[in-house]
Amino acid sequence: MSEPRSLTIGWLYPNLMSTYGDRGNVICLQRRCQWRDIPVTILPLDQQTEAAQFSDVDIIVGGGAQDRQQEIVMRDLQGAKADILRNKLEVGTPGVFTCGSPQLLGHYYEPALGQRIEGLGLLDLVTKHPGPNVSRCIGNVVFEITASPLAEELKQRLGQPPVIIGFENHGGRTYLGNVQPLGTVKSGYGNNGEDGYEGAFYRHAIATYSHGPLLPKNPFVADWLIKTALQEKYHTEIQLIPLDDSLAQQAREAMLKRLETVA
Ligand code: GLN
Repeated sequence: MSEPRSLTIGWLYPNLMSTYGDRGNVICLQRRCQWRDIPVTILPLDQQTEAAQFSDVDIIVGGGAQDRQQEIVMRDLQGAKADILRNKLEVGTPGVFTCGSPQLLGHYYEPALGQRIEGLGLLDLVTKHPGPNVSRCIGNVVFEITASPLAEELKQRLGQPPVIIGFENHGGRTYLGNVQPLGTVKSGYGNNGEDGYEGAFYRHAIATYSHGPLLPKNPFVADWLIKTALQEKYHTEIQLIPLDDSLAQQAREAMLKRLETVA
């Protein structure tokens, strides 16, 4: 009997970048693997982690953080750790990066106060905080995923356009260069409250401002990450056993109704 297919989830700086509940994304991925008898390990990727271990992950999750914590993270995410993370994402390791995390995957983040924080330059985007006296982008957010091929793959699975429901809380405004937006905003601010874009998508990396946490509210995205990770790791087409998401679907319908948004 061959070894069961397993996954390791790399969790970026969990003690610094979980300010907005994004640990829920890790828990959601872990449980949706366990419910399918897929052995899953969670590996923190932080100051105590050797750079070489950054290679040992199949899905990468990065949460949100306050400006101060982002600066601390970037002091550590340098050199070999930065190179390995960039390379993993470049070769197609899937990941979901929320708010403060994608800001650090871009060229730079100019925080409300203090010096510019140089990013990894993986995503062609920049983020600028307009200052402590400008209101933050806070509230429920609804957007339709438009990034290719993610949108087509999700639409084929759902039988309808993939609509994301989440919650945003950021001061930084993100501006995209030569990188796909993840989607278009139907309700809320999105990247900057100006251009109607939300997030970014590159290779198999999902960058979004949507907390919530994102994955329990949009379980089809969690399954896309799990399926993609297994396919990348084992180089074969994967069909995941469907799970009963009726409760999540009821919550989605209630939220969409409340936001009066036509999905
Ligand atoms: N500190 C960043 C900002 O205010 C990121 C916030 C977050 O991760 N929710 O934009």
